[in-house]
Amino acid sequence: MTDIAGAGNRSTSPPGLAAHRAAVARLERDYAAIPPGQRVRLAKRTSNLFRFAGGAPSAGLDVSAFGHVLRVDPASRTAVVGGMTTYEDLADATLAHGLMPLVVPQLKTITLGGAVTGLGIESTSLRNGMPHESVTEMEILTGDGRVVTAAEGGEHAALYRGFPNSYGTLGYALSLTIELEPVTPYVHLRHFRFDTPDACMAAVAQIARDGSYHGHRADFVDGTAFGLDEMYLTVGAFSEVAPWRSDYTRERIYYQSIRGPQEDFLTIRDYLWRWDTDWFWCSRPFGVQNPVIRRAWPRRYRRSDTYRRLVALDRRYRLSAVLNARRGRPPQEDVIQDVEIPVERGAEFLRWFSGQVGMSPVWMCPLRLRGDRTWPLYPLRPGQVYVNFGFWGTVALPPGAANGYYNRKIEDQVTALGGHKGLYSTSFYSEEEFWALYNGPDYDKLKREYDSGGRLASLYDKCVTFNNG
Ligand SMILES: Cc1cc2nc3c(=O)[nH]c(=O)nc-3n(C[C@H](O)[C@H](O)[C@H](O)COP(=O)(O)OP(=O)(O)OC[C@H]3O[C@@H](n4cnc5c(N)ncnc54)[C@H](O)[C@@H]3O)c2cc1C
Repeated sequence: MTDIAGAGNRSTSPPGLAAHRAAVARLERDYAAIPPGQRVRLAKRTSNLFRFAGGAPSAGLDVSAFGHVLRVDPASRTAVVGGMTTYEDLADATLAHGLMPLVVPQLKTITLGGAVTGLGIESTSLRNGMPHESVTEMEILTGDGRVVTAAEGGEHAALYRGFPNSYGTLGYALSLTIELEPVTPYVHLRHFRFDTPDACMAAVAQIARDGSYHGHRADFVDGTAFGLDEMYLTVGAFSEVAPWRSDYTRERIYYQSIRGPQEDFLTIRDYLWRWDTDWFWCSRPFGVQNPVIRRAWPRRYRRSDTYRRLVALDRRYRLSAVLNARRGRPPQEDVIQDVEIPVERGAEFLRWFSGQVGMSPVWMCPLRLRGDRTWPLYPLRPGQVYVNFGFWGTVALPPGAANGYYNRKIEDQVTALGGHKGLYSTSFYSEEEFWALYNGPDYDKLKREYDSGGRLASLYDKCVTFNNG
């Protein structure tokens, strides 16, 4: 076991396990000192949530001590990681040993705890499922102030299984033990074009069956829909060699490259962060895709967290809303969602989305649970292949329509197609509908067991009522 805090990790003072234990004891004391009845939130430097409403005043819990990788063990291919560690730091620490987490969400500042409690996904998800499926143990500060270890089959097994999709409403993960897999220096990409959604979804089903496409091994699979007649699946294979390597952190832009040559090579690190530089395609409104502005925009700020901070400022001061109104344009609704649809209904969803919402591009990422049991608060069916569709932008509201018009339609359609919606952004469900979709009875049991005093907000309040946190 190598204590690596420092090897590839940006920490200047390697914390180690002893320091971690001291930090846990300190956090328990800080938590106990918050007056009962006061709302609690994580005081974190970064966030990837898209819920910006104000919400009630809350006490911030300083969790900066939990942002480090504690250990990487190349022999057992596992790591012990602080719950607030960003995937950027985590990937650097494991890549130094020729390993990576089984799923690395695309945005550098997503944290391991955030991805487990908030359901991350990426192009290894067809092979490896979701980030929480490679967690073997979690140390959790529960809502009622205990620190417990949750693992499959242990005393707190119900918490272990109910933690994914609880969004910090049952407790906070302070450290997690995760499995890792070996990598090669490069990823060899091939972009396959489809001119109908049906052909594209049939190819996803075929890849899920065969583990390859046209002879190209599918270690990584995701896709981009620019329109119903222009859709791409990008299939990536681990590779020891690269005849050339592209770099999309400079002038060229990754999502645009998908429409270009059908073959590409990236270093494994550049592959993991291929979407971060331009926040998928969402850097466009900041002008960064204009070659002149791009050259002037410092490279270190071409990152998703920079753009998200700018959006948060915009929402806070309502800059674009005011500008929009001044120009006489209709109000816009944020339509920022990730939804999972069974692959058999994927083409139907794409056609419906194109007709009713009409936003592009759309990100497509196939996934399948790694294990043969479901996870109670986000009940995907074992064995079923889903496609995650991600769309992030604004749409003009029709005359007389109120905010929520499009998001509500999407929620209804996702339910009608047997799908699920992630909860990192806005939601408009009624309470009854919400609990029917996200397993109210099991959640209630966990809430009673681990946060009986209700110190942490309920999942419904956080995601729908307060629309914040
Ligand atoms: C435009 C956009 C695109 C996205 N695309 C993807 C994507 O492609 N793939 C993907 O995987 N995800 C994606 N996400 C979603 C992202 O993974 C989730 O929002 C995730 O929860 C963010 O994690 P974070 O670490 O930034 O947590 P935060 O934003 O800080 O917190 C998210 C929630 O988790 C809780 N939380 C955070 N840390 C912990 C912890 N240690 N223990 C318990 N609760 C905790 C917080 O209380 C909060 O409720 C996207 C989000 C946006 C806005």
